[in-house]
Amino acid sequence: ARAQIGVTGLAVMGRNVARNLARNGFTVAVHNRSPERTRSLVAEHGDEGTFVPGESMADFVASLERPRAVIVMVKAGAPTDAVIDELVPLLEEGDIIVDCGNAHFADTRRREEALRAQGLHFSGTGVSGGEEGALRGPSIMPGGSAESYAKLGPMFEKIAAQVDGVPCCMHVGPDGAGHFVKMVHNGIEYADMQLIAEAYDLLRAGLGAEPAEIAEIFRDWNNGELESFLIEITADVLAHTDAATGRAFVDIVQDRAEQKGTGRWTVQSALDLGIPITGIAEATFARSLSGHVDQREAARRAFPDAGEKWQVADRDAFIEDVRRALLASKIVAYAQGFDHIRAGSEEYDWDIDLGGTATIWRGGCIIRARFLNRIREAYDQQPDLSTLLVAPYFAEAVAAGVPSWRRVVGDATRAGVPTPAFSSSLAYFDALRAERLPAALIQGLRDNFGAHTYQRVDRDGSFHTTWAGDRAESPA
Ligand code: NDP
Repeated sequence: ARAQIGVTGLAVMGRNVARNLARNGFTVAVHNRSPERTRSLVAEHGDEGTFVPGESMADFVASLERPRAVIVMVKAGAPTDAVIDELVPLLEEGDIIVDCGNAHFADTRRREEALRAQGLHFSGTGVSGGEEGALRGPSIMPGGSAESYAKLGPMFEKIAAQVDGVPCCMHVGPDGAGHFVKMVHNGIEYADMQLIAEAYDLLRAGLGAEPAEIAEIFRDWNNGELESFLIEITADVLAHTDAATGRAFVDIVQDRAEQKGTGRWTVQSALDLGIPITGIAEATFARSLSGHVDQREAARRAFPDAGEKWQVADRDAFIEDVRRALLASKIVAYAQGFDHIRAGSEEYDWDIDLGGTATIWRGGCIIRARFLNRIREAYDQQPDLSTLLVAPYFAEAVAAGVPSWRRVVGDATRAGVPTPAFSSSLAYFDALRAERLPAALIQGLRDNFGAHTYQRVDRDGSFHTTWAGDRAESPA
């Protein structure tokens, strides 16, 4: 039998995507640079469906029905280009290369353009959910041409996670749209995790609680509006005891957070587009800061005991304050992430469906959460929504949380507990809702030192004041 789709690159992710396809009844050609991986996949999982192993790339390509669809799941960067270069001479017009690796969307745009010129489709496809997701149903974010989606869609929608009978997969848009949305997904994941980490830190400092006790608080939160995969696994990690020492697991792990770089890409792109994704940026910088061990050591010595002693009077009220502040901060992070997607969509002409994006993140991926239904509803009701913050459900949750948010950030500041993401989200909220911003003064300074001109509140046009001379104003 001819294979309906092929997967090359059979490390954890590719192997599991291939198995997922086979388990769902598709005939899957499989290939890997070193053939041992191909052989072991068939030996260990051959009974799960129909695999067509190819020892060489040529055999692999020859086993595919036309138009051919080849998923590339190798290390991002140069290896992806190497595999594409090997594939291209073996393919024919109308065939489709799918890059399911974590590529930067700019690379995807470049590859798509080059392959389009050669008559091939290139679908840069974001896949989230890690190893387990790849096997049992990930969230899939395919970019590329509508023709390529006509072939890929039915297969991807079948192997994707399903929520209320709806697949966590949709055609995101042309060229780099899929990888862009995956990138912002990862950025939001950074923000979400930083906020959760700060909430834990606040509970620990404010209540003097042990990790196991805080695990219970998160477990309880997971029954409400905050219900999500990340909150659920936070409870698991906090409840875990280290077997070697008998101590709380979280206390034996070094406090230096690592990153593979998608958070950084998100922030870089947002800077280019002029979109203030402060939550994601703070989260990314917080990880960097945690890794600056020497500076942390020096500062710790220079400034011991910089805060007041924190004494929470009412335990339950404090927990509720932290929960509300977490929810409000999280809403800010998502509002910013969706602003970023909208800006990317406009800049690159992708026409991305924002509500649809929330829909395909409801299952399979790391940020899957109940709350995403509300985002979809918000965009369904008002597709041109200026910011998620003002959609009825979110506006209500934020308004209800504001006093808690201010108490938590204020108390943490006095006690010297760092809350970069909580506090910057609150600052973002206050800046957005401010009647007047001190940006007016900045305009004055820019005009003073650089004749950059300014606009007036009472008249149209641009103006300049001769600061060094008679201070007369003239139209610019
Ligand atoms: P790795 O990123 O570790 O890549 C290993 C695979 O790449 C192997 O199949 C390897 O072949 C192949 N490879 C490396 N260099 C070359 C080359 N020059 N030519 C041909 N093949 C090459 O594997 P993962 O499964 O972890 O990830 C695959 C992709 O999926 C990556 O882009 C990753 O970013 C992305 N991803 C990963 C997730 C995860 O949770 N791990 C989640 C979502 C996406 P060989 O066996 O011959 O060495």
